Amino acid sequence: MRELADAAKQTKAWACYDCGKCTATCPISRVGGDYTPRRHVLATNLGQRKELVENGSLNSCLTCSLCDQRCPAEVAYTTLVQKLREITHVDGKEPECPHGGALQSMMRVMAKGGTKQNRMEWLTDDLRTESKTGEALYWTGCTMYYDAFFPEFKISTLEGTRAAVRLMNRVNVTPVVSPEERCCGHDLLWNGDREHFELLAKHNVKLVADSGAKTLVTSCAECLRTWKIDYAPFFESAPPRILHITEFLSDYLSALEFKANGKRKVVFQDPCRLGRHLGIYDPPRRALSALPGIELVEMRRSGPGAVCCAGGTWSNCDRFAKKIQVERLREARATGAEVLATACPKCQVHFRCTMQDPNLAGEIEIKMSDVAQLVVDSLSQGIKSERDGSE
Ligand code: SF4
Ligand code: SF4
Ligand code: SF4
Repeated sequence: MRELADAAKQTKAWACYDCGKCTATCPISRVGGDYTPRRHVLATNLGQRKELVENGSLNSCLTCSLCDQRCPAEVAYTTLVQKLREITHVDGKEPECPHGGALQSMMRVMAKGGTKQNRMEWLTDDLRTESKTGEALYWTGCTMYYDAFFPEFKISTLEGTRAAVRLMNRVNVTPVVSPEERCCGHDLLWNGDREHFELLAKHNVKLVADSGAKTLVTSCAECLRTWKIDYAPFFESAPPRILHITEFLSDYLSALEFKANGKRKVVFQDPCRLGRHLGIYDPPRRALSALPGIELVEMRRSGPGAVCCAGGTWSNCDRFAKKIQVERLREARATGAEVLATACPKCQVHFRCTMQDPNLAGEIEIKMSDVAQLVVDSLSQGIKSERDGSE
């Protein structure tokens, strides 16, 4: 009871006046799912732990934060879900997701330590990196595991990872890429497993502190949120500057030289962690707009109102999640774009999965690419400062 009262206090759930705007906004209820966030808010305020545990629908929330924006009482529902999953973790229902269990087991193995990882083979000979110390660190996240885990989707999230390191090299930054990195624990935290999340947080924060890096760059929107918000209490000294690769690029766009690579329409999918969780909307758009031949178009629901890939946290994947993904892909295709650009490897995994449906493929298939990969594809040789001495 005390825990629920604390959660209500920390998220302002107590201020809820039962208007139902959250339910009306929620992408799950909009595609016909029986999901009512306000019921969880009410149960929290009434101290109904049993209702929260037995109902089981807590796992359905995408934690996309769309409802947070619409709530007139400023209830932080997404944060409330994180706390409620943690409170009910011991006796709550297991998430129902076809892939979540296996991936989260892998994360727990990493959290316990003692097993040797082989996470560096993706580095190609042309990429310059350091393994221990340096001014900047590139945080890879788990992309190497996704590519191995989902061969049937024919994705290469690692291409985006390599592209990011290539871009850092191009502007004369040799980042640390550590063989000792472990999963950031984002999905464990959002599925209520604080114990293993904290083990990962402590390991990773120490690793980065020991590297001496003053800047940490990542291509994963979920890792970025974790580093910026959820790891904050674990730093014993000042944290490094933490940037998404598209933010890092913003400082260098005017120095890089691009070549036209044919004319293409590109549409951008705002990852919920990058957009609504962290307020980062412009940097990926700035990078795409800087590329000659690319016309950036927008979906009807974009920026703060964007609908997410419906798979973040690997907590739930049911017919409503699929419906959200199908609608989103139709929306992307309706823009006339040939490429759906993303700034989070997980968006690629979930959307590519949905595109495998043989009954729908013709209607929803669209080429996907990480923003960093599109930037690399448009690079000319050299950077301006190398050629003419200007900055
Ligand atoms: S939108 Fe906010 S105030 Fe309205 S029911 Fe939902 S949580 Fe309560
Ligand atoms: S966070 Fe997203 S999925 Fe969860 S209740 Fe709010 S709008 Fe619905
Ligand atoms: S969308 Fe596909 S990859 Fe993502 S959780 Fe569902 S089944 Fe797994």
